[in-house]
Amino acid sequence: LFGQVEAFAGDPILSLNDSFKADPRDQKVNLSIGVYTDEKGRIPVLGSVRAAYERIGFAERPYLPMDGHPGYREGVQKLVFGDRHPAREAKRIATIQTIGGTGAVGIAADFLAKHTPGRAVLVSDPTWENHHGLFQRAGFKTATYPYWDAKNRSVNFDGMVKAIEAAESGSIIILQPVCHNPTGVDLDEKQQAALTDVMIAKGHIAVFDMAYQGFGESLEADAAFVRRYAERASCLVANSFSKNFSLYGERVGGLSIVCRDADEAERVLGQLKLAVRRSYSSPPMTGGLLVATVLGNEDLRAQWTREVDEMRTRMDSVRKLLAERIRSLSNEVDVGFLTNQRGMFSYTGLTAQQVDAMRERDGVYLVGSGRMCVAGLNEENVAKVAQSFVDVSQA
Ligand code: PMP
Repeated sequence: LFGQVEAFAGDPILSLNDSFKADPRDQKVNLSIGVYTDEKGRIPVLGSVRAAYERIGFAERPYLPMDGHPGYREGVQKLVFGDRHPAREAKRIATIQTIGGTGAVGIAADFLAKHTPGRAVLVSDPTWENHHGLFQRAGFKTATYPYWDAKNRSVNFDGMVKAIEAAESGSIIILQPVCHNPTGVDLDEKQQAALTDVMIAKGHIAVFDMAYQGFGESLEADAAFVRRYAERASCLVANSFSKNFSLYGERVGGLSIVCRDADEAERVLGQLKLAVRRSYSSPPMTGGLLVATVLGNEDLRAQWTREVDEMRTRMDSVRKLLAERIRSLSNEVDVGFLTNQRGMFSYTGLTAQQVDAMRERDGVYLVGSGRMCVAGLNEENVAKVAQSFVDVSQA
């Protein structure tokens, strides 16, 4: 019956993680998968989340509503848009709890496929691969706009704006507002404003995918692009709590759609509920309760904010440490990119062959594109990574 079913090639990054696990070498270093690990290489259980577990206890587990836990949805809105955002005060944001950031992007794609079908969809080149996959699954064709400037290891902003300006009016443009995956380079405030002007003039639909809020500069500052945009135009915002709550397996995220007025928002919320109902009916409860409890209690929220700050500060300091170690081994290798880029990822500019050599010779695992997850660095492994980086750069 299923003889013709094709094999799934697997996800290259997840497969790399399996290879890492199977690697028998003691000194191996995993800088491939996008997971934050602490100085000891462990996925942290945040103190605020631990406290939330104690508070939620072993309560009954009825179905959540289709759009999720009300406290969670309120928490998403306050965190993403800020408490006093004019769109929030006008009740014109429709927010649902989603199955991670992936679920948020997926429901956004399904919603747009139904209500604004046939539009062009543009994603950054490069991007998180699933942007293509999720929008294609929803029935769209996807294309790219330039983003990575390989020569300067920064954003090719002129190329990006030109492509977005040249796109058909009303196109769907996926934007990562902070800690861009996989490059680690973001637009500055002036560029954000200029791009917003172009987006609005062209009547494009912005879909913000914010998977790393708090890992760039702060929880508040990282949301600034989205907040300013939402003051000027309707848009969609997918957010993930996987990283900043260190709750990868609980599948916690949110989707917010900023609408013209409260009436439109109510109808949009209804359609989001319908999309959820037809897909998985309602979101999972435990993760929802944990996040709602942390975001809804001032003491836990303050504790959580400090914990997010700690994760970010650690990543910033291992970036600096790696740059220093590389510099101490060689003056020939340019390391400025390490500290210019932000968040969990750095595009190193290493070729696939160099990445292979680091893995095969030294057991240092990066993604084939040259993406390094800096969260996997720590005091113990940084010297080894620096040496390997210098060796392959000078080979
Ligand atoms: N968007 C981007 C840009 C991501 O990097 C990721 C995953 N790391 C996601 C969405 C998906 O988030 P989640 O793991 O919460 O599904």
